[in-house]
Amino acid sequence: MIVDRQGRRFRNLRISLTAACNYACTYCVPNGKRLVAAQDELSAEAMVRGVAYLIEAAGIERLRITGGEPLVSPKLELFLRQVSQLGLADISLTSNGQLLSRKLPLLLECGMRRLNISLDTLDPQAFARIARGGDLASVLHGLEEARAAGLQVKINMVPLRGHNHEQVLPLLDYCLERGFELRFIELMRMGHLARDGNAFQQQFYGMNELLARIGERYEFVQAEAPLDATALRYEIPGQGFFGVIANESVPFCRTCSRLRLSSTGWLHGCLSSSNRHYVGDLLDKPRHQALPALQRLLVQALADKQDIAFSGGVTVMKIIGG
Ligand code: SAM
Repeated sequence: MIVDRQGRRFRNLRISLTAACNYACTYCVPNGKRLVAAQDELSAEAMVRGVAYLIEAAGIERLRITGGEPLVSPKLELFLRQVSQLGLADISLTSNGQLLSRKLPLLLECGMRRLNISLDTLDPQAFARIARGGDLASVLHGLEEARAAGLQVKINMVPLRGHNHEQVLPLLDYCLERGFELRFIELMRMGHLARDGNAFQQQFYGMNELLARIGERYEFVQAEAPLDATALRYEIPGQGFFGVIANESVPFCRTCSRLRLSSTGWLHGCLSSSNRHYVGDLLDKPRHQALPALQRLLVQALADKQDIAFSGGVTVMKIIGG
């Protein structure tokens, strides 16, 4: 097992199935470009081998499938069917929910029990401005179907001052009514926001302000969360839970157990580091050749983790999957 001086190890793998996305959220991509799969993306089979090798080499226990937008990828079905045979403790998926209705039968058939759906606003105009694509009604329809099918749903919202921060309470009401757990993600200095400090500062809406806003309507208490959880969790007694991923306000680097594999075969040990390690070629090799080389790269990737706080990174989120 590879462990660093702070006792951190990789347990959670996030795999970006494709860099292509049917949205172009303003805070994620700078120029409104979307639906671009990288030419050299790994095949579904190579990705499954990657997950299998990382289970052995790094002790990965949990997998989150992300993107880009995983539901637009033609690799989704084969990947899901094969990866669900690897004996992982948990497989979940992060999506913008645009194609949820269409893909739900496949997700259920492959044993998916948990989904994180990104939803920044319930206002159709604001939705169109932020996502620069998609259609709110389809997302909401997909969410109702997922709920009816008994899936456990978390909603991810990035509150942005001046764009959707007035939606904090409407979205919380919406989630509480449906038994969805809302996770507020503080805006991160990623991609263009790492370069443009002004744009970041203007839009950043932090945890203190957020909790004060929620406190105007609800009483809440801090709830328990797993040791390596990135979200602070709160309970609104008798009504439900919500969480805050407070990268800026309460950094969680000391307990981070995440490893990321990009759709083009690069391992990232830390969102905040521009270091990355190419493993695409190893995934075509037999296990006895691939594992020792992979372990050497994992030592380097673990050393890329920040000591205390997330300081930002120039990598665009849609490339490494948030
Ligand atoms: N397309 C999928 C989705 O929309 O959930 C998965 C990929 S998306 C990059 C994953 C998450 O990253 C989304 O919840 C999105 O809101 C979040 N995200 C992207 N850029 C961000 C940023 N600069 N700060 C905080 N969260 C960000």
